[in-house]
Parts: sequence; structure tokens; C-alpha cells
Amino acid sequence: MTKDIRVRFAPSPTGPLHIGGVRTALFNYLFAKQHNGTFVLRIEDTDQNRYVPGAEDYIKEALDWCSITFDEGPGKDGGFGPYRQSERKHLYKQYADQLIKDGYAYFAFDTAEALDNHRKDHEAKGKTFIYNWHNREKLTNSLSLSEDEVAAKINSGESYVIRFKSPKDEILHLTDEIRGDISIDTNILDDKILFKSDGMPTYHLANIVDDHLMQITHVIRGEEWLPSLALHVLLYRSFGWEAPSFAHLPLILKPVGKGKLSKRDGDKMGFPVFPLQWVDPKTQSISSGYREDGYLPEAVVNMLAFLGWNPGTEQELFSLQEL
Ligand code: GLU
Repeated sequence: MTKDIRVRFAPSPTGPLHIGGVRTALFNYLFAKQHNGTFVLRIEDTDQNRYVPGAEDYIKEALDWCSITFDEGPGKDGGFGPYRQSERKHLYKQYADQLIKDGYAYFAFDTAEALDNHRKDHEAKGKTFIYNWHNREKLTNSLSLSEDEVAAKINSGESYVIRFKSPKDEILHLTDEIRGDISIDTNILDDKILFKSDGMPTYHLANIVDDHLMQITHVIRGEEWLPSLALHVLLYRSFGWEAPSFAHLPLILKPVGKGKLSKRDGDKMGFPVFPLQWVDPKTQSISSGYREDGYLPEAVVNMLAFLGWNPGTEQELFSLQEL
């Protein structure tokens, strides 16, 4: 039996959605429609420091403007709203604990200052500091402590994070639907933080747990997440879960040599970055956008759908249905 296709768009509410985010949402939406699947919106709001009030409304409004709709989620008035990680935070700690119990993660008690000193020591010797098996025994973590010693440290209020124990000397063979086969030497991976000292999961842990619990079959996201693929696949393996398929979309770049788009670029690029108007909550300045500049949503959707290729027909405008 083939599995039902389930995809998600999982923005972090750190500011206005830029046009690259709208494109990721559009590709997920079209993939779900094409396969009679389910499309989920998940707001990844576990990073309190980067949270921008109002960004979630903006994201929803921008997607709504493009007629990109969702098929599931706790919405109001009969509509489908987003899942929010902040409302699911009770879930994640138990998964971090499970990894510790199974030997795939550990408590680390290093202070920021100690880590900085390790980094400087390495730099002075012309080396790069990687927090993994190279250095683990020199760092302040729970790997050489008994369970009681760890509990005593935690009970005394010592601040800790939970880190993933990246494996030594292994070549991982990964597959990306766009890039094809990728090999990664695990010795270049650092022991990423899964659970922060503020009691919140990091993006990596919450994202994997939710993709698993929400039975996501295809992760379609921007290429900036390709460097995280190895960790994500290792997390699935450590939990004993089947990983979804991954497709990392090439990014929309600024004109030659200027790098990837950022939310701050406004319309300096020759075409506006924001699909709608956006009021920056810090400066109260208004960035104009597609709506204010008189662009029609259909035109924006078609521009995004056909960046980098064309279907080879004379047809100029495609409806979402046709796309
Ligand atoms: N929250 C991540 C972002 O803002 C999602 C990445 C993913 O789709 O896995 O881009």
C-alpha cells in the first residue's frame, strides 16, 4: 500500500515572509494537490529570541493572498489554522530524554566562557574547534558521570543543554531528490544542541519530532537547510524512525554575486522581496510590496512557479489548478 502524501510548510515567525518562503509554500501546496495529499502549516516558534510579534499573521495573510490553502490544523471558524510548536512544547523533552537513555545524546554543562576559551585555544593553534568526539572528553559534559552525579548537577540548578552525540568515523550516504546522492563524513559534524538551557527544544529536535508525529512523507524546503540533512537523518536513525524524502530547493538569489535573499532587502533588488506590505515592528517603517505596487497574486504565483524553467508552451498565465 502506498502512503498518503503529506507535506508541510514550516516557517519560523522571525519576520515577514520573503518571496523565497512563498515559493517553498507554493511548491509544497502544488505537490500535495498533485498527489491528492495533505498540506500542513506549522509555525516553528521555539526560538523566543528571534520571535517577532505579528509575523505569524503576516505569513498567513501572505499565503492567503496567493490562495495557498491548508488541509489540516487547529483553525478557527471551520478553516485550517497552523500547528504551533510553542503549543506543543511539552512533547519535545521526552524525546530528548529518550535519546539520552539510548546513548545518542547527553547533557552538557559548559559555560559560554569555557566554550569560547576552547575555541580560542584551537584558533591559536590554527585549528577549528568542533564540539564532537575530537574534544568531548575535554569538555564539561555528562559522558563520564554517573546518573546520580548528573542528577545532582541538575538539581543544584546548574545550567545545561542536551547535545546530540554525532558518530565517529562514518560515511553517511544521503539522498536529496534534487541534488541526488550526497556523502558526508560524520567527523565534520559537531554535537548540535537539541535542547536549550531555557527549556525549549532547538529547531532540529522539534522539527524532526513534528515531521515524524505529523507523518510527513516529503520535506520540501530551501537549500539553506541542506547542511542540516546529515543531522536530521541521524536523528531519524537514532529514534528508529523512517525518514521522509527530502528535496532542497535552490534559493532565489540576488543579482550576481550578492548572495541569498534576506528579509531586509526590501525592493532594492529590482523587484520587491515582500509579497505584501510589511510594517517593521521595531522601526515602524513600512516596506512596500507586491500588493501595494499593484502586482496581482496570479502574476506573483506564476513568476515563482516558473523561475529557472518553463513548460515550453505559449501559455502565459497558469491557474493554481493548472499548475
Ligand atoms: N523553521 C524553518 C525555517 O524557518 C523550517 C525549515 C524546514 O522546513 O525544515 O525555514
